Amino acid sequence: LIQLYIPLNFLGVLYREIRQSLTDIERMFGLMHQHREIADAADALTLPAGPASVRFEKVSFAYDAKRPILFDVDFEVPTGSTVAVVGHSGSGKSTLARLLYRFYDVQGGAIRLNGHDIRRLTQDSLRAAIGIVPQDTVLFNDTLFYNIQYGRPTASREEVEAAARAAQLEDFIRQLPDGYETRVGERGLKLSGGEKQRVAIARALLKNPAILIFDEATSALDSKTEKAIQAQIERAAQGRTALVIAHRLSTIMDADEIIVLDGGRIVERGRHTPLLAKGGAYAQMWLLQQQEEAAAGAPEVH
Ligand code: ATP
Repeated sequence: LIQLYIPLNFLGVLYREIRQSLTDIERMFGLMHQHREIADAADALTLPAGPASVRFEKVSFAYDAKRPILFDVDFEVPTGSTVAVVGHSGSGKSTLARLLYRFYDVQGGAIRLNGHDIRRLTQDSLRAAIGIVPQDTVLFNDTLFYNIQYGRPTASREEVEAAARAAQLEDFIRQLPDGYETRVGERGLKLSGGEKQRVAIARALLKNPAILIFDEATSALDSKTEKAIQAQIERAAQGRTALVIAHRLSTIMDADEIIVLDGGRIVERGRHTPLLAKGGAYAQMWLLQQQEEAAAGAPEVH
């Protein structure tokens, strides 16, 4: 029986290995297949590397023609500034990020980078200019080192370590017995939401893009992690053009402009303090979040 068991067990392990690596690949390529309809124009331009400004010019968009998602969305992210987009779930915030990365093309208006309509740019040069810190980071079943280096596979060990340091992952990594060689992902060490986000920040820093998109996680983080992430975002955004898709308003109080989306339309815009004073949609969202936070924090008696 043992003679039969060992090979069967081995096959089981092998099967799981193969299935797991397929899952990783599917996760990455699933996205790409979904967007294969986007092709470079025959005479597409290569965006030169360097600082970039972003402009959404009267953008309208629908995933499905019967259900428009964005209407005449018009705003600019000047070079080196940080613009935050807030709004209820489903208002179209993440869609803006997907359009900027050109997973889809707009149906009305245009998105411009340094004045160039992104449909006129090569996808490679467009995507090289943009780093994304997604809501939910895909971790491969591999080492932490591999997972960070993924941001720029040609990066040296020193560069990977510098990115981890800048994303404040170093203390965490140092206390792991296997350090950078620790296996993570579904079959390895499970990272917390905050740790995963820091891996995503390290990856993005390694890529060193002119434009950073932060798609903040919807899941609630404790207020200490939230503050740490806010500081991270600010640091990583320094010297770059940043678009922050925010779920927690406290993380974007210092943004140069806050865009409030409602049902795919911009209903308010401005800086935090004037928006609060206005007593409109933003002020209401702020009040609601303060109440929620107070309620969530209430049982924490020390
Ligand atoms: P959240 O705060 O919950 O992340 P959001 O404001 O980022 O929401 P989006 O993800 O931009 O919202 O979605 C806007 C609308 O578009 C939603 O109603 C959603 O159901 C729809 N939508 C998103 N992705 C697709 C898709 N691939 N196909 C069809 N509809 C989609």
